[in-house]
Amino acid sequence: MDRKRLKKLAAEKRFIPGIYNYCDRWCERCPQTNRCLNFSIGEEDFSDPETRDIKNEAFWKKLSEIFKETQEMLKEAAEEWGIDLEDLDSEEVAGHIRVRDEAVQGHVISRAARNYASRVEDWFREREERLLETTTLLSDEVNLEEALEVIRWYQYFIAAKAIRAVLGKLEEEKDGRNEFPSDADGSAKIALIAIDRSISAWATIPHHDPRESESVLKILSFLDRLGQAIEETFPKARSFIRPGFDDIDLNE
Ligand code: SF4
Repeated sequence: MDRKRLKKLAAEKRFIPGIYNYCDRWCERCPQTNRCLNFSIGEEDFSDPETRDIKNEAFWKKLSEIFKETQEMLKEAAEEWGIDLEDLDSEEVAGHIRVRDEAVQGHVISRAARNYASRVEDWFREREERLLETTTLLSDEVNLEEALEVIRWYQYFIAAKAIRAVLGKLEEEKDGRNEFPSDADGSAKIALIAIDRSISAWATIPHHDPRESESVLKILSFLDRLGQAIEETFPKARSFIRPGFDDIDLNE
């Protein structure tokens, strides 16, 4: 899509600014695709499967060209402003980033969220095939396949958003900021929504296979504790208003 077309599309009133910042990126199931600029750009550029591959290749090529151009521009700007780029890459800066990353990754919420993702992986490894056979048998009843899909979709998403929330919180604390709404609260909120939905999905599994009641209960209680820890750490997260999802009537 060229710049002119993009500008014209972005000016359409139907789009909600920033709607894609705190969504779950599950466009296939999103009730707001018509109000999302991100989705519309993707649709225009990639909807035709025949041209999608060509456009994808062109896209990565273009990105690599932009990367080279940006490096050149950066060098020129740095020279102009007397900034030593080598210095920015110094041990001291790298050290700060390392300390921050360790604090984020070592935070109890980050560790628990990653732990949840690997528990899910282990659980599926041992059972997925058998469960999908069960799904076929019971497809007219509660849709187990969809429940498994929901769990899989959010398996790593929860960790990604929870870690982003922790990073935001640590940076806000470091800068002495205490604003609401904050990006950290928004990230925590979408992590909590993903946890709520995952809990509902997990809860359907024992209906299909009562032998899994115990294994599911263990994961459910772990996930519930993770949700509680996020709520305690981000007490304002639930009241964060996500543009397009929490502030308007979906039937509007
Ligand atoms: S708001 Fe909906 S359509 Fe837009 S990126 Fe998020 S999930 Fe996809």
